[in-house]
Order: sequence, then structure tokens, then C-alpha cells
Amino acid sequence: MMLPHLFGMLPEDLAAHLRADGVAVRDAESRRILAHAIAHGREGHPVSRPVPRAVEAAVDKLVDRSRLEIVERATDSSDGFVKYLFRLRDGRLVEAVRIPLEVPGRFTVCISSQAGCAMGCDFCATGRLGLERSLDAYEMVAQFIAVRDEAPGVVTGVVFQGEGEPLHNYAEVMQAAAILAHPCGGRIAAKAITISTVGLVPAILRYARERRPYRLIVSLTSAVDQRRRTLLPSASAWPVHELADAVRVYQKAVGGRVTVAWVVLGGINTGRDEVDALRELFDGVPLRLNLIDVNDARVGGFARASAEELSSFRDELRTLGIPVVRRYSGGAAKHAACGMLAGGSQQQS
Ligand code: SF4
Repeated sequence: MMLPHLFGMLPEDLAAHLRADGVAVRDAESRRILAHAIAHGREGHPVSRPVPRAVEAAVDKLVDRSRLEIVERATDSSDGFVKYLFRLRDGRLVEAVRIPLEVPGRFTVCISSQAGCAMGCDFCATGRLGLERSLDAYEMVAQFIAVRDEAPGVVTGVVFQGEGEPLHNYAEVMQAAAILAHPCGGRIAAKAITISTVGLVPAILRYARERRPYRLIVSLTSAVDQRRRTLLPSASAWPVHELADAVRVYQKAVGGRVTVAWVVLGGINTGRDEVDALRELFDGVPLRLNLIDVNDARVGGFARASAEELSSFRDELRTLGIPVVRRYSGGAAKHAACGMLAGGSQQQS
């Protein structure tokens, strides 16, 4: 039987797990154990007050503390993105990406929430895999720890934007995010943790109701219902106006601008009909639009928009008063960019 993993626990979870086995552990001790294992990293930290030996021995016996096996690292020398391939305890492979930020020595880690993905987006290599399984919280936290401890710098953010649809694995992703934000865990500011969703309406409403403190990005890519159903088949379950209503509810709950991601598909989703649909759907909802170039022409045969097409789309969007940012999605040379993660299957291609 597999032991529960320390990287998937908050201090109260560890204390409850040990106490259930008759171990007398204090709250402060469970916090110190987690801080030593997660917050302080591979180098550890001088332990000012070690936990009692009996508690340490119980942790050894009752909890798994192993790290993920790194099968491969691939650095894109053009932009410094590093893609990691990990082997999970059951042998499945998943990927994460270390993303250098503009400030030298600072990084964001992009982690996978599932092995493969059930959503089947037309422009995404992960979608071609189908869903193998959802990851446990510890497997997401373990990706972060492995990448952070290899980085000669500081990890200041995490994005759930690797393989998988995070809100399709809601409870485990929320547990992982809570551990990443915890002072004994990843110590990442909650606002620097980003969860990206393709738009699962009931999950967005739940997220809004629960007032989760992390940033939510909704990947819209088309505001024209029929086109969106084709490009993002999972969206067929909810017409785009229901998604817009859910975004409105979320915005009211948390305030500020909601970030909407838009994978730009040349000749397909940059026309006037998209701008008109956006205007109608999101009237009165403060948005920010992130434009992301489609990355892999081999998936779905999509092409990038020309400079003229992109610039006229941006001009049209600006008439709506929506701030538009063109997001760089790097690591393409190593299949590390958005839409290119495929659990190592591309290495053979
Ligand atoms: S874009 Fe995201 S949600 Fe869509 S198939 Fe790829 S990983 Fe899944």
C-alpha cells in the first residue's frame, strides 16, 4: 500500500494523520516538519528546534517524503525556458516548465494538474493524449519543489497551465495551491498563483462562491458560440453566454479585471464577428485580454496570424476599452510552450 505523501499535506493534515496512528505530535512540530521538507528546499535549513525522535521516526514510517524522478530536462537556449519530464510513482510521465521572468534570477513554474487532458482543444498537443488520470496534490507540489530546487534563483510564481484542465481536478488543485501558498509550504503569494481554465462553468461558479484567493484566467479563444464549440469541444456543454455569465459572477465576487486568454489562430478567430460577440457577451465586465500565438502547426494545422491581422485585431479590441497584452509563450524549440506539452510523447516525433 502506498503511503500518503508529505508534499500533499497542510500542517493540520499531517498532525491528523499522525494522531490517527497514536503519535503525540504538537501543531508546531507538524509545521516544522513541513517547513523543513517543503519551504526550505533541498539544502534544508539549520534546524533550531528539531522535532522529537519518536515523531521523526513516525513520519518515516507513516509518510512518503520521496521526490519526483526527473527523467529529462530540455533547455530552449533562445529564451531560457526549461522543460522537465517527470516520472510519477505509477510510471506515468508529466511535464513542467521553468519560465524565466524579466527580472534576472526570478522564475515562474508552470505545472501540470493532470496526465493528459480530457478537454480535447483543437490546437493543443495535450488534448490529443486524452486524459490518463488526474494528479494528486502532492504530485503538483512535487513538480514545483523539483523545479525550484534546480533553479539558481528564486521562484516567485506558479501557473497551473501545464497538462490538464485544473478545474477538472478541482479539490486536488485547490489543496496543491493552498500548500504552495502556505508559509510552511511553497511560500508563494496567493496572487502569484494562477489557475487557468478552459471554462468549466459550474467549477468557475464554485470558485467564485468559495472566494479562492488565486488568480483565475479563463481561456476563451472565441466568443462566437459555434466556433468555440468546434475549437474547444469541451465547451459544448455550456453555451458561451453561460460562460460569460459565470465570468460576470466571478468578477463581482473578487473585483478587479478578469484575465481572458485568447489563442490567436490566423484567419480564424481575429475577425469582426469575434469583437462584436465579445462586446455583447461581456458588456460591463472589466476584462484584460492576453493574446497567445498558436505554437504547434502540427496540431490541428493552425497558423499564426500575420502581423497585419494581429494588429488590426488589437485595434478592434481596443475600441472595446479592453487592455490587450500579447503574451510570449516560450520554449517552443523544446515543445515547452503553451499547447505543446504532451507527457514526453513528442520526444519521439
Ligand atoms: S488547452 Fe488546456 S484544456 Fe485544452 S486540451 Fe490543452 S491542456 Fe487541455
